[in-house]
Amino acid sequence: MSADQAFLLATILDASTEYSIVATELDGTILLWNEGARRIYGYPAREALGRNIRFLHFPGDAGQLEFDRIFAEALERDRWEGVVMRLRRDGSSFPCRIVLTVRKDGTGRPGGFLSISKDISDEILIHERLKDTEAYNRILIESATDGIMTIDLDGRITDVNQEMVSLSGRTRDGLIGQPLRELLVPSSGANEAISRAIRDGRLSDLELALQRPGGETVDVSFDATTFQVGRDGAKQVIANVRDVTDAKRLRDQLAQRNRELEVQNQRVEQANQMKSEFLAGISHELRTPLNSIIGFSDFLLTAEDDRLAPDQREYLTDILNSGNHLLRLINDILDLAKVESGKLELAPTSFLVGAAVEEVCSSLRPQLASRHLALHTELSADVGYVLLDVGRFKQILYNLLSNAVKFTPEHGSIHVQVRAHNPARFSVEVRDTGIGIARQDIPRIFREFEQVDSGPARKYQGTGLGLPLTQKLVGMMGGTIDVESELGHGSTFTVQLPREAPRRTETLPSRRGSVA
Ligand code: ADP
Repeated sequence: MSADQAFLLATILDASTEYSIVATELDGTILLWNEGARRIYGYPAREALGRNIRFLHFPGDAGQLEFDRIFAEALERDRWEGVVMRLRRDGSSFPCRIVLTVRKDGTGRPGGFLSISKDISDEILIHERLKDTEAYNRILIESATDGIMTIDLDGRITDVNQEMVSLSGRTRDGLIGQPLRELLVPSSGANEAISRAIRDGRLSDLELALQRPGGETVDVSFDATTFQVGRDGAKQVIANVRDVTDAKRLRDQLAQRNRELEVQNQRVEQANQMKSEFLAGISHELRTPLNSIIGFSDFLLTAEDDRLAPDQREYLTDILNSGNHLLRLINDILDLAKVESGKLELAPTSFLVGAAVEEVCSSLRPQLASRHLALHTELSADVGYVLLDVGRFKQILYNLLSNAVKFTPEHGSIHVQVRAHNPARFSVEVRDTGIGIARQDIPRIFREFEQVDSGPARKYQGTGLGLPLTQKLVGMMGGTIDVESELGHGSTFTVQLPREAPRRTETLPSRRGSVA
C-alpha cells in the first residue's frame, strides 16, 4: 500500500463516526479502532488496542459463548451479520448491528476479522413507536361503530375493520383483494362511489346495498374520502359504511305516516270548507228575516205610535234587543268562517285613529250611562293617521270595549289609551276595573265559544266568539293581542298594530274555502 493510500484509508476510518470499524487478529486481539468505535463504545483507541474484542460482550457464559458462536460462524462462512447486545465503557448495554468479515492474507488464508458495527437503539425506538402508532390507529379503526375499508384506485379492497367483516358477512381475507363492485348492489355504485370520491375529494350519504354471501342484502350509507400515505404513496379511498336498515325502515314508516296525514289533512280541509260554506249559507238565510224583525220592531218603537200599550213596547224592545244580539252572533260566525277560509279581505284606508276610537266610544255611551260606568280616553298626539282597514279596526275596539262594559260592575271605570309604540307600530289598551279573569282561564278566552262563566247559571250574555275573532283580525292586520288580568281586579287588553297594513299575501291564512 502506498503512503497516499494509507493516508486515504486512515482518513476514511476517522471520518466514519457513525460506524465502529474494528480490525482484529483471528483470536480477537484488536489491531485497529476507529473514531466511530470510540464514540459508540466510549473507549479511546489506546485503551482498546491490544485487548481482546470479547470484552465488548457480556462477561459470563451467555455473552462469551455468543461471542464464540459469532466468530466461529464468521470463520466458517467468511461473514456474519446480525444484531447482538454489546457493552459500553460506562457499563450500559445497547443493541448493535454487526457485519463481521474475515480478513484474508495474500494466500487467501484467514488472518483476522473486520467488524463494522452500529448502535441501533434509536432505530429500535423508532420502530417500536411506529408499531405503537400502528396499534393505536388500528384500535381507532376497530372501535368505529361503522364498517371501514380502504380501496385502491383500481377498486380493490385493501383493508377492512371488524365491523366491515360483520356487515358483509365475509371474512377479512375474503374481503381484502376483492373488487368493491362484487360487494355492492348495484355493482355500478362502486365505480360511481370511487370516481366521485376521487373527483370531489369526498362523497357522503350514497345509498347502496351490501351483498351478503347468502344472497340477502343490507342497506348501507356510503361515505368516502381519499388519502395518500407519504408523498409518493399511491392515492387510496377510505370508505365509511353504515348500516341504515333501521333508519330506512323508520324513514319509510314516516313517509307512509306523512302520506296518511296528508290525506287526513285534505279531509279536514274539505270538512272545514263545507263547514264554512254551510255557515255562509245559513248566515245569509238568517240575516234576511232578521233584518225584517230588527227593522220593523225598530220602526214601531221609534214611530210616535200611541196605539202601542206600554207592555207591548216592552215586548217590542225585547224583540229588537234579541234580534240585534242574534245579528251580532251571525255576523261573528260569518266573519270567523271567512277568516278561516282565507276569504276575509282587508281594505286599508288612511284614517285618524283618534276619530275611530271616539266613534266606537260614542256608540257605547248608552250602555256606559245605564251602568254608571266612567270612560276615560287618552290619545297620544303622535299616533295620528294610520293605513289600515278602518271597519275591522273599529270592530276590534268595539269587541274589547263591549266586553269591558259587560264585565265591569256598576260604577266602575274603563280606560282607553292609544300610544305610539315606535315609528312603525302603535298600541290600543282597554283597561277596566271589572271582574277580571283567573290566570288559568286566560288561555281559554281566545278559543271559539269559550266563556269563563259558561255554566247554565251564567250571568253574562255572550257567545264566546268576540275574542277569537278579535285575535284573528289583529293577526291578519299584522298585530298582536295580549291580556293581563287578575280575578276581581280588572283586566287590560292590549292590541299592538302596525301603522300600515302588511301586504295581503303575508296576512291571509293559507286555508282554502268559499265563503261569500
Ligand atoms: P263573550 O264576551 O261573547 O262571552 P268573548 O270571546 O268576547 O265572548 O270573551 C270570552 C270570555 O272572556 C268571556 O265570556 C269572559 O269570560 C272573558 N272576558 C272577556 N273580556 C273580559 C273582561 N274585560 N273582563 C273579564 N272577563 C272577560
